[in-house]
Amino acid sequence: MNLPGVKVLHDEAAIAARVGELGTRITRDYQGKELVVVGVLKGSFMFFADLVRAIDLPISIDFLGVASYGGNTKSSGVVQLTSDLSHPITGKHVLLVEDIVDTGLTMRYLLDNLATRHPASLAVCSLLEKPARMRVPIEIVYLGFSIPDEFVVGYGLDHAQKYRNLGFLGILEGAV
Ligand code: 5GP
Ligand code: MG
Ligand code: MG
Repeated sequence: MNLPGVKVLHDEAAIAARVGELGTRITRDYQGKELVVVGVLKGSFMFFADLVRAIDLPISIDFLGVASYGGNTKSSGVVQLTSDLSHPITGKHVLLVEDIVDTGLTMRYLLDNLATRHPASLAVCSLLEKPARMRVPIEIVYLGFSIPDEFVVGYGLDHAQKYRNLGFLGILEGAV
């Protein structure tokens, strides 16, 4: 799909290569452990689907829903849990999968929330991070790409709920 106003940042091939590398590392690191891979909806859905297929372990999957943005391109800083996990994570190794860590506020909220449930471990995998905008430090153990301070869409990421179905990551020009 080619769209006016959207400039390709990372194409399908680049994304697939990076996701494959992350899957290999995760497979190695969680060998012999009971791993639950938790996707943060909706933005991570495409990344999540590709990533779990690159993990060669008998994992479980679950999802969390959060809302933090509305139709805007800047974080409100207010995070709302719109849907919770379907199973307890106590004693399990949890890998939280996000589309993007921008200010870090959403991830901080989620990590604090999940930590109260006493998982055996809790780590973050994010497709993207925007270092220029980070306000709270988040350790991203598995990172896809570091990106400049631009508003990105595609590969699951939206602007006002559109563009999620693009297979590539693009910069929405004039959005920031
Ligand atoms: P944070 O709380 O880290 O500032 O923001 C995290 C959430 O904001 C992400 O999960 C994502 O939904 C949204 N977000 C931040 N930057 C972008 C961006 O460049 N593009 C899109 N589509 N969403 C973004
Ligand atoms: Mg997200
Ligand atoms: Mg969004």
